[in-house]
Amino acid sequence: KEPSSKILLKGDLIFKNVNFTYPETGIQALKQINIHIKQGERVLVMGKTGSGKSTLLQLILRYYNTELGGIFIGDTNIANTDLFNYRNQIGYVPQDSFLFSDTIAANISFGQEGVTQQAIEWAANAAAIDTEITQFPAGYQTLVGERGVTLSGGQKQRISLARALVKKPMLLLLDDCLSAVDSSTEQKIATHFTTHLKGVTQILVSHRVHAHLDFDRVIILENGEIIEMGSPTSLLSLGGVYQKMAQLQRQ
Ligand code: ADP
Ligand code: MG
Repeated sequence: KEPSSKILLKGDLIFKNVNFTYPETGIQALKQINIHIKQGERVLVMGKTGSGKSTLLQLILRYYNTELGGIFIGDTNIANTDLFNYRNQIGYVPQDSFLFSDTIAANISFGQEGVTQQAIEWAANAAAIDTEITQFPAGYQTLVGERGVTLSGGQKQRISLARALVKKPMLLLLDDCLSAVDSSTEQKIATHFTTHLKGVTQILVSHRVHAHLDFDRVIILENGEIIEMGSPTSLLSLGGVYQKMAQLQRQ
């Protein structure tokens, strides 16, 4: 493969024997990770704090290089792709995503050039934040932050989600970014994802077994290793961690 090739992020996302140790601390965050995610699959990643969930997403984003093995999109090792072109096709909401002291529109279109108002409104709708935005007197021109309106945690999370969606990404990586979103809003987002994100591979890190989002696959991490992986139904009958979490949350 040519190094730094510009590829279209189409195809399955494959982890082949991925190991990762943080160089600064020597902590091995991921061990022998093998996953084959089909294009368009929706995957839920769960596990205790420190189990390696965020690291998994950050390796997909190429924040770090893997030591052994590799991550592939189709036949292409992501390490050989043009970084800007590659990341530009990924929608990512980090765990600690933040908003700038600017308008809501600017926060949604942040990092993208030539985003139309129509695209901003589309993304806001897909993130189920559009109604609340239009209720502000200044609408999309409302300032947020110190000199603007104070938004709830759930509103901030949905604006960050809209920022990731406005790129019309091929791959969507969400790191625990729906934690402050209530159940009925989650339902709306789920419906939008189903209609608008067909063919988009989606990986959601969460502590919750989401009631409304239909996952093709669940991955449970523990100390950097995959301890359970399968469809939600198969994991429910496995009697393991996923089943316990699902039961706890139903109560
Ligand atoms: P999770 O998202 O599941 O809470 P992380 O992927 O953040 O887990 O962390 C996995 C392990 O890697 C933990 O032991 C954590 O302390 C360590 N770790 C995470 N980020 C860094 C970093 N930037 N430098 C060094 N160690 C890190
Ligand atoms: Mg994390």
